[in-house]
Amino acid sequence: MARENTTPDLLIREPVTPVADPRQPVTPPASGTLREENPFDAMLARYGQAARLLDLEVGIDRILRHPEKEIIVAVPVEMDDGDIQVFTGYRVIHSTARGPGKGGIRYDAGVSLDEVKALAAWMTWKCAVVDLPFGGAKGGVLCDPFTLSLREKERLTRRYTAGIIHTLGPDSDVPAPDVNTNEQVMAWIMDTYSMHARQPETAVVTGKPVAMGGSLGRREATGRGVAISAGEAMSYVGMPMRGATVAVQGFGNVGSTAAQLLARDGCRVVAIGDKTGAIHDERGVDVDDAIAWVRTHGTLEGYPKGDAITNDELLTLEVDLLVPAALENVITSRNASRIRAKVICEGANGPTTAAADAILESKGIFVVPDILANAGGVTVSYFEWVQNRAAWYWTESQVNERLTEVMRRSFADVLRLATQHGVTMRTAAYMLAVGRVATAHRLRGVYA
Ligand code: NAD
Repeated sequence: MARENTTPDLLIREPVTPVADPRQPVTPPASGTLREENPFDAMLARYGQAARLLDLEVGIDRILRHPEKEIIVAVPVEMDDGDIQVFTGYRVIHSTARGPGKGGIRYDAGVSLDEVKALAAWMTWKCAVVDLPFGGAKGGVLCDPFTLSLREKERLTRRYTAGIIHTLGPDSDVPAPDVNTNEQVMAWIMDTYSMHARQPETAVVTGKPVAMGGSLGRREATGRGVAISAGEAMSYVGMPMRGATVAVQGFGNVGSTAAQLLARDGCRVVAIGDKTGAIHDERGVDVDDAIAWVRTHGTLEGYPKGDAITNDELLTLEVDLLVPAALENVITSRNASRIRAKVICEGANGPTTAAADAILESKGIFVVPDILANAGGVTVSYFEWVQNRAAWYWTESQVNERLTEVMRRSFADVLRLATQHGVTMRTAAYMLAVGRVATAHRLRGVYA
């Protein structure tokens, strides 16, 4: 039996962020009004600070606070038992000032418009900080993907794609995998789009299987970028990589690759952890062995070597480098004062709250912010898009060399700005990114 459709078929909303009073100067939101763990507030806190330091014009500030487009679609899906369910899908394009919208699609029971808007803006800053010719976007479908069969997930993906197809395109909006979506989901999106376009369009999504236009090196790209950024940070603070102690929270795609590459560079990875807990071994964890365990068992649970510790203990270990590579909001005002790492390199998106930033700064901890540290993934997504459009594919070593060049150059750009202005790497990264997007707006002007 069909359930009642309570969601509109298609809704392109007017921007919902309140428009600032034009007579008011640009100011960040008052810290007392920010909700520490709200993603949109976290993004606005960092953005607002950069805008103020850049002395951004009120008009440009107002443009950047508004996503360009917010799409909400009803996604009816015929379930395997014949029942029809209607899911809600979102796609938000925050900015196309510097190029097509770029950003992942997540399937999750916690997806909300506020979250998708924050993540879309985050993508704008992330692409700008490493100087990719992309804007920022994000999408999501409110569902519990673990209760869907493969065929239900395929039908959901194709109908959601059809619902937002007018915004998608290699020159307008290019999705990628995110939480609970993967190469297969990208292949279905590419196929659905191509059927409508009446021609194959590999460049409409990135993170595809290598067998159909994906890039070599994409799977490891984010972790590789984290390891490269951590190496640059350690070199800057005068810490030799050989023998440096490292704790990594999260042992999935990003955390395990970063741990593996850091260990290959001579670091001693003394703690790793995932959602089941963490392990600590002062002599150094055998990262390859732990990866093999997770490949067989799914998680680190039951891993027989090292001492079991909690995730909170992992975060507060006395180490040279801490890599949070699991979740957002793990370093907050509650535990920041107990963090004893000398350098933090953020593999996850938003692992540190804005309130914790100030505490880490007062402790002299050098933080490589997420929008810089984990930009390796979107950088190789860009390489994938370039290879698709040129129909000319690169070797894995070419991909890795070019990724290294982008990460090192971007780290140096951010560090230079941080030194010039006497600000943290996070503030400098936002200043660099916001400044680049603002420049594009000034040059383009306001179309009337
Ligand atoms: P993943 O699903 O492959 O791995 C996530 C890991 O985090 C797993 O080991 C999981 O067990 C662990 N985890 C989950 N909940 C936890 C908890 N409560 N405590 C401790 N560990 C927990 O995901 P991923 O692709 O490695 O992404 C990790 C982070 O990096 C996310 O914040 C993601 O947004 C960010 N990120 C990923 C990419 C990418 O290309 N994969 C790019 C940029 C940013």
